[in-house]
Amino acid sequence: MAAQTILQKLEILADAAKYDASCASSGTAKKNSLGGKGIGSTEGMGICHAYAPDGRCISLLKILLTNHCVFDCHYCVNRKSSNVARARFTPQEVVDLTLAFYRRNYIEGLFLSSGIVKNSNHTMEQIVEVARILREEHDFRGYIHLKTIPEADAEIVHQAGLYADRVSINVELPTDSGLTRLAPDKDARQIEGAMGKVKSDLVEAKDARKRFRHAPRFAPAGQSTQMIVGADAATDADIVGKASRLYDNFRLRRVYYSAFSPIPDASAVLPLKRPPLIREHRLYQSDWLMRFYGYKPSDVMQATEADGNLPLDIDPKLAWALKFREAFPVDVNRASKEQLLRVPGLGVKAVGKILASRRHRALRLDDVALLTQSITKVRPFICTVDWRPITLTDRADLRSLLAPKAEQLELFAA
Ligand code: SF4
Repeated sequence: MAAQTILQKLEILADAAKYDASCASSGTAKKNSLGGKGIGSTEGMGICHAYAPDGRCISLLKILLTNHCVFDCHYCVNRKSSNVARARFTPQEVVDLTLAFYRRNYIEGLFLSSGIVKNSNHTMEQIVEVARILREEHDFRGYIHLKTIPEADAEIVHQAGLYADRVSINVELPTDSGLTRLAPDKDARQIEGAMGKVKSDLVEAKDARKRFRHAPRFAPAGQSTQMIVGADAATDADIVGKASRLYDNFRLRRVYYSAFSPIPDASAVLPLKRPPLIREHRLYQSDWLMRFYGYKPSDVMQATEADGNLPLDIDPKLAWALKFREAFPVDVNRASKEQLLRVPGLGVKAVGKILASRRHRALRLDDVALLTQSITKVRPFICTVDWRPITLTDRADLRSLLAPKAEQLELFAA
């Protein structure tokens, strides 16, 4: 077989990396300026966007070192038994590509993952080697996110953290039974053991830097993980419970959700249809509620329906409020911050502004309307000096009144 060019490898290995959500790129229509028409292209292979810890949006080169893999995870397009074109970069090729893209200002960093070739230690060493060459030989100061392999020796994973800004280990599936069925080569205890080791490395490095200014940094942007949604029977309540345990036990910066999408040459044990994308969105909203709005996992679970899943037609905050109407209306001029954060339609910033302005004067409904996108959504749940909802919160049809109206899909939309 003829040797593959770098471009051919890039095409295969950037495409193979697109299933990883922990560095999400936004979808867009394909356009290019080949043939001299126009300027620019949206087909920049392997470039995706992620958010830095300070909130900046950064472009990353997102690729796999190789899509060869000795494991056979049913949900993965790169599994051993999958019939896809394969390619493999050398560490030096990834370094050259990263530097070339960086110098042209296409990217600000690298997101590197890999299938497992030979064995976990060998693969992890190759991943670390990319980061080592970039940092030590080229003094590369861009962002590096390395996906680490839980089966690899802890010492090699530790090396990854010394070079990377962020490391991540995928838990893959929300339940241990799902993992055993769909990823027979993986072991839940080993995955969580590796995450626990990264957590203690993070804590030790932080302590050391408090004592010695020049102590080495270890993954200053922390660790994250990813869960596939909809490939097994786990409900949203299961997923939220798992995510919350992971946040508590491993000090994760983020849990990413990836709606399972049927892959080419899919295994027969997988569902034929992908779950609705809105399910992934509802899980991210619930994640947000737990991280910034003071909801406990049990609160989010209370917002689920009888089947254990979050409603798709309304967001989880509204779902909770409709189930616990006795907690409303809240008086915007007196309620605590925690109570205000429970009001559907009021975000963290709006609540901050309410707390600040009510020190100077009593707020009216019009004042609140200036702070929200939809006062219709907020109105049944609050009272102000000139507004009290009376029976609105008790109406049986409140959910249908507040649910976003279904949009007619365009038949010929691109
Ligand atoms: S180990 Fe990773 S690359 Fe290999 S089959 Fe499993 S998910 Fe895919």
